[in-house]
Amino acid sequence: MSQLTSSIIGYPRIGENREWKKALESFWKGDVEEAEFLRTLEDIRLNNLQLQKDKGLSLIPVNDFTLYDQMLDTSTMFGIVPSRFAYEGGPVPVKTYYAIARGTQDAQASEMTKWFNTNYHYIVPELKDAKPFLAENRPLIAYREAKEKLGIEGKPVIIGPYTFIKLSKGYEAQGLMAVIEQFVPLYAQVLQELEQEGVQWVQIDEPSLVTSLSGDEWKLIEGIYAQLREAAPGVNLLLQTYFDAVSNYEAAAALPVQALGLDFVHGLERNLAAISRFGFPQDKLLAAGIVDGRNIWRSDYKQKLELLDRLSVIVPKERLIVQSSCSLLHVPVTAKHESALPRELYGALAFAEEKLDEVVWLSQACSYSEAAANGEWSAQLEDNPSRLDALGASSARNRQAADAAAIAAQPSVRPLRFEERQTIQQQKFGLPFLPTTTIGSFPQTADVRQARLKWRKGELSEESYTAFIHEKIEKWIRIQEELGIDVLVHGEFERTDMVEFFGEKLDGFAFTRNGWVQSYGSRCVKPPVIYGDVVFTAPMTVAESVYAQSLTSRPVKGMLTGPITILNWSFPRNDISREQVAYQIALALSEEVKALEAAGIEMIQVDEPALREGLPLKREDWSEYLKWGVHAFKLSTSDVKDTTQIHTHMCYCEFHDIIDSILALDADVISIETSRSHGELIHSFEEHTYDQGIGLGVYDIHSPRVPDVSEMVKNSERALRVLDPSIFWINPDCGLKTRGETETVAALRNMMEATRQVREQMSAEVKA
Ligand code: GLN
Ligand code: ZN
Repeated sequence: MSQLTSSIIGYPRIGENREWKKALESFWKGDVEEAEFLRTLEDIRLNNLQLQKDKGLSLIPVNDFTLYDQMLDTSTMFGIVPSRFAYEGGPVPVKTYYAIARGTQDAQASEMTKWFNTNYHYIVPELKDAKPFLAENRPLIAYREAKEKLGIEGKPVIIGPYTFIKLSKGYEAQGLMAVIEQFVPLYAQVLQELEQEGVQWVQIDEPSLVTSLSGDEWKLIEGIYAQLREAAPGVNLLLQTYFDAVSNYEAAAALPVQALGLDFVHGLERNLAAISRFGFPQDKLLAAGIVDGRNIWRSDYKQKLELLDRLSVIVPKERLIVQSSCSLLHVPVTAKHESALPRELYGALAFAEEKLDEVVWLSQACSYSEAAANGEWSAQLEDNPSRLDALGASSARNRQAADAAAIAAQPSVRPLRFEERQTIQQQKFGLPFLPTTTIGSFPQTADVRQARLKWRKGELSEESYTAFIHEKIEKWIRIQEELGIDVLVHGEFERTDMVEFFGEKLDGFAFTRNGWVQSYGSRCVKPPVIYGDVVFTAPMTVAESVYAQSLTSRPVKGMLTGPITILNWSFPRNDISREQVAYQIALALSEEVKALEAAGIEMIQVDEPALREGLPLKREDWSEYLKWGVHAFKLSTSDVKDTTQIHTHMCYCEFHDIIDSILALDADVISIETSRSHGELIHSFEEHTYDQGIGLGVYDIHSPRVPDVSEMVKNSERALRVLDPSIFWINPDCGLKTRGETETVAALRNMMEATRQVREQMSAEVKA
């Protein structure tokens, strides 16, 4: 029986117990010397490689490890250090590297942003005035290390030139072409040195090739790869795409490389259709990403082997590589510590380590009929679906409350149009002109976190914890009243995380012990697992909101996290569509909305900060996603009285291209972050009319700086030039939980003074 080559695209760097995080943080604190720190990192790196070797993986990636982020590795490899940091050439020192990532007293860190549609954030390279050169051939160093220390013939991984430049900023003035011409010779040099070293395979990551690209862009890409090919003909290039189907298969398949890596999980239908239609070049290998690198579920072996069978009709087995769909960086390290989870769930989990086993197993079994006939394989083939079936058959996945009929019966349209609601809501609440509010959370100071921790450990009784939370709520209700804010919030002191809080209270969620995934730098998150039908069991937020409302005659907003955000920040089950999962969450939230309303909370905010980041990578897929996303939001917010005012909030701007969907949410009031969009959002209101309630954040909460009154007056005036004052609200950009108390009160005081001035000025204008 033949055996296929097995590989992965990258492995998590954080270590089984987040050793990597701990090492970075103690180094930053100055607790360990650089040499010792680098030794610790080397241990983690070699451990990861040894594990892959022990598991029997045939083509092991190297240079996927990092001191912080692989994009920053790439820019520093080319000596790109923004001029505000001291740098004298040569390999970028560790200290400088971290200065770019984290900033210093005198110099701001480079910007960080999301890596495609994942929750991983990379450091955005600053190419303005950059004079790139090859400062250090990192893939070569990684290759040598694996070979010398572990006898591994590794596959160096680099981020390809097209993706690297596309994700950078500051090259616009020179033009894309000129920058490409700067970088291609440097990439060529990297490849030549690898070639001289005798490297067999280099994986060049080009995830940008799955986004919608023009014909001209494909021409550029062809040019790049023709040059690289020519520069280093003796090394095999594996052009790797992931996160979706390659957007122009014919063009990609024609590129002068030895292997093409395609995602057969997230781009399954399209990649398969393209291969079936156009065939696969006979001179190339196909690296088939069939094990899901984005989610935590075991593979269905039968289904995967059948997929390999289908592929092998087009690409002979000798030319197939079985691998993960993307880097395993996006899943937690190992499931072996999760045995406290429900048995049927535990049995169905595959984190990075388990995915290694899957890739290797599939590469060995490699054909369904052969595996079924082979005694040893067939036992595993049988065991595998029974694990998945056990979860499928579990009561967690068969709750009636969340079935299709329940979803279909749920109202998703408010009976009155916005203008009609606006009138009666105004009568009811009697808010002043330009009402003021905040986004929900107030500072989560150390005492709040400590109290919660003690309560979780059982060291603080339920009563004492509740009393503590009540004290905080009361303190901040008084502060808000004293400041004169019109619509108050309770402050969210009882919540650690806006998704976890709801996940812990709804049926259908599970929380792992050690399921950490890197989010940015040393920061890791532990996304909840949505493994069953999501169902409301009991009110989740009513007690705190009602308590807060009992303290004041001003309206207190209820505060919920929306269905799309809960979905996008979790690991969802994959036996039903994301759309269906969103609808189940929406139904559960609708129950909460009704419970709040019944308890007298008649302004309710449903946050959707993750709506935008969940957009598919291909423009043509946006409308489908937005359609069900909007529907989910409306399922959770429409079953209310006409007088109940629904608010929503979104962060991270750039909303101009989805503004129609934002309007379609039909929220009575939306608050949007604006500080990071540099006026772009305001500009979009010149082109689109927005006529529902809207608050454009008048100050940036992401820094401790207290903005002055005049600045906030200016921000409000700028917005009021394009928005009708009768719909305009004044609020900060986002929740205040990461801020200190003193600066928060000072900033809000200035915001209220700014509001007073703008109100006065506008009424003077009306009179004049
Ligand atoms: N209500 C949340 C808060 O204030 C919103 C957070 C967010 O937008 N990410 O913290
Ligand atoms: Zn926000």
